[in-house]
Amino acid sequence: MPDVHNWQLGRTMSYPFAAAPAKWQFAFVFNTNRCINCQTCTMACRSTWTFSKGQENIWWNNVETKPFGGYPQNWDSKLLALLEEYNPGGQLWDPAAGKSPEAPYGRFEGKTIFEAAASYAGTDGPKVALGYIPTAEEWAAPNIFEDHARPEARPPSAVKHMVAALPEHKVWFFYLARLCNHCTYPGCLAACPRQAIYKRPEDGVVLIDQSRCNGYQKCVEACPYKKSIFRPNTGTSEKCVACYPRLEGRDPELSPNGEPCETRCMTACVGKIRMQGLVRIEEDGAWAKDPQNPIYYLVRERQVALPLYPQFGTEPNGFYIPPRWVPRPYLIQMFGPGVGHAIEQYSCPDRELLAVLQLFRTAQQIIFRFEIQPGPKIAEIEVTMPDGSSRAQAIFNDTVIGYNKFDQEAVRITIEEPIFERPAIHANSI
Ligand code: SF4
Ligand code: SF4
Repeated sequence: MPDVHNWQLGRTMSYPFAAAPAKWQFAFVFNTNRCINCQTCTMACRSTWTFSKGQENIWWNNVETKPFGGYPQNWDSKLLALLEEYNPGGQLWDPAAGKSPEAPYGRFEGKTIFEAAASYAGTDGPKVALGYIPTAEEWAAPNIFEDHARPEARPPSAVKHMVAALPEHKVWFFYLARLCNHCTYPGCLAACPRQAIYKRPEDGVVLIDQSRCNGYQKCVEACPYKKSIFRPNTGTSEKCVACYPRLEGRDPELSPNGEPCETRCMTACVGKIRMQGLVRIEEDGAWAKDPQNPIYYLVRERQVALPLYPQFGTEPNGFYIPPRWVPRPYLIQMFGPGVGHAIEQYSCPDRELLAVLQLFRTAQQIIFRFEIQPGPKIAEIEVTMPDGSSRAQAIFNDTVIGYNKFDQEAVRITIEEPIFERPAIHANSI
């Protein structure tokens, strides 16, 4: 297998194909601290793309309650266990090794799904990526353990009889919104024997050519995030298409001049947790330095948003600001060793970071560049940091402006929400 560079692992890794970087890469940042699990994103996607016969269990976007929820059930803990089985005690990071802006989390010393597959010992032949096909039961119920802080100690078949029970450990949970990560090194693409899956050179979106797919489900098995899903009545697999007509600026209502727009799940987000964009990629596959691009700024410049399970090795392009209240070991397993730094920054954002965080869900157009205009100081507050210490945070009423692909102003917002008083035309004018 050729060697490719994976910046999230801080090293090269084996992948079945040579690197073929896209010019731009679809990417997103989710702020898990703000998700309210309203599932509006899920239904926005559902009502756009997956409402037809045979798609009953196809949820391109889902929101699961961690640690016990998952769609399909236990998708992440099952794969973590499988990797551990093939590399016992070896799935470790060295956060200090080679750490640099190009390798922000140090180096992953364990095995990715592609590397672990080399020692696959099953009877069903060699594999390009370690994985598994979930059972029908695991696909059946996307909301199991929703809002639960502890699972029943029962096998999944008994879950439907679940009753409320008192927690046995310190209670915590959080909502994890998920969709296809349009990975740089997709497991689904690598495993398809028909080469029906391709990554678009213009925006890095990963698509399944339905006319080539024969429904072997190798993509379902190899996607570590289980975001390629089989549709029984067509006999093909389907996955998130990143609302590509919107990305291409082809929605006449939203994009009269061809401005790229965010996907349906992003624009519908009630909790304002989502920001989606496009990052420019160099010819060698590295992210082009672009600190005024909000996605680049949050992920690479400030490292406040982290990839989901980077150790799987697909270089996912979905990034998460981790939840502040969740035990660190769990978060480090999920988001890698950058968790402490990310939470520290998010707990008490400086003036610039606070301004950029205001841009979430303020425009439907994709923001390619932001600019901050300084405003007056309006408050000073005391913030309790994760280690229990106190820090003073000065708040300035700065204005942040977002620009679209054509460098036209798409949004302008201040830190302090303005108050508008309506004229009292009627006694009840609301
Ligand atoms: S998340 Fe899964 S389906 Fe999406 S590109 Fe990555 S490997 Fe493929
Ligand atoms: S719409 Fe936003 S807040 Fe609501 S569940 Fe989805 S990601 Fe969370």
